[in-house]
Amino acid sequence: MSEVRFKNVRKVYDDDIVAVDDFSLDIEDGEFVTIVGPSGSGKSTLLRMLAGLESISSGEVIIGDTVVNDIPAQNRDVAMVFQNYALYPHMTVRKNMSYGLKLTSDLSNAEVDERVEEAAEMMGIEDQLEKKPASLSGGQQQRVATGRAIVRDPAVFLMDEPLSNLDAKLRAHMRIELQRIQDDLKTTTVYVTHDQEEALTMSDRVVILDQGELQQVGTPGEVFDEPANLFVADFIGSPSMNFFDVEIVGNRLEGKAFSYDISSKVAERVRERSNSNELILGIRPEHVKFADSGSVNAIPATLDVHEPVGDDNYFYLKVNDIEFTMRIMGDHKYDEGDEFTVTFDEDKMHIFDRETGKNVMVDDVEPVPNPETESATQRT
Ligand code: ADP
Repeated sequence: MSEVRFKNVRKVYDDDIVAVDDFSLDIEDGEFVTIVGPSGSGKSTLLRMLAGLESISSGEVIIGDTVVNDIPAQNRDVAMVFQNYALYPHMTVRKNMSYGLKLTSDLSNAEVDERVEEAAEMMGIEDQLEKKPASLSGGQQQRVATGRAIVRDPAVFLMDEPLSNLDAKLRAHMRIELQRIQDDLKTTTVYVTHDQEEALTMSDRVVILDQGELQQVGTPGEVFDEPANLFVADFIGSPSMNFFDVEIVGNRLEGKAFSYDISSKVAERVRERSNSNELILGIRPEHVKFADSGSVNAIPATLDVHEPVGDDNYFYLKVNDIEFTMRIMGDHKYDEGDEFTVTFDEDKMHIFDRETGKNVMVDDVEPVPNPETESATQRT
């Protein structure tokens, strides 16, 4: 078990590709932190720098009390699970799981065997130990790769999209298993994925990256309810948040689709925190609700397309030719082409400065962590 710290870490490839820029983060001992972002945002580079598989251009990576920048991968006390599992095809499962441990420890064969069997049991593969990887399913291979990491009993687990080669059902199942294992072992875990849903369901905290830059760090609830900026608001949540260009005029947000009266308190706050009158109003599909036509901020809409998703329904609405999405659970009485009025509550609304992309409704969003002040500012 160990803390992990990134201090102003930067990675430049080929002199001009900045993959990670001035990244700082403190990960607590035993925490499960997920790094999420679109393809090319620098997630794997961060993890690989922590693993020792990639050099660090500047800044410091610290595991426990040790700056590990110049420590080779095999001496970092981390165990990594890769997307493609990286199992040796000619070795049995038992050998795959014990090989690394035999190389890096002076445990006796009996002790190694005991650890392998314990980990295999934990992963439910105790019957597969004498098989070769090729005769196992993708899910079983994934378990072997995870089991191999567990056997090492490392200070930190590193996981690079470990579930992305599995089908949706197995992926959902393995998410729960990985959480259970992490709960049991309490090993600090840094997990990388491009899948925001995976990040939200598994992690103590989520780290959102875009183009090598940290966008926000917070609990799943924080990044969902209080996205720091447009990027996070758009990236987190499915279906995505609706966005409308609006201008603030008095206590009113005026847009092409509709206008919305806000309280003077919110209007004041928006004026204080935005650079101009040009704003973007954001509302999540699940926060759009039916309204009486006479009520305040009623928005007349037409149901353009209805997409049922199990018990869930996505309504693709049109208001003055501008499209947006409403999400409602359970039964309803509407058909495509129907007209009705919708609205949303002021406290569910997000307002972004169009110029900076910053969410002006969020109080002191988790600041970009500064190692010097981290313990004072970090939310848990
Ligand atoms: P992610 O894991 O989020 O998909 P990566 O960390 O793989 O992102 O990549 C971040 C950026 O660094 C991308 O622009 C990618 O093209 C670049 N990059 C990654 N690895 C290398 C490399 N070995 N050489 C040059 N550029 C690289």
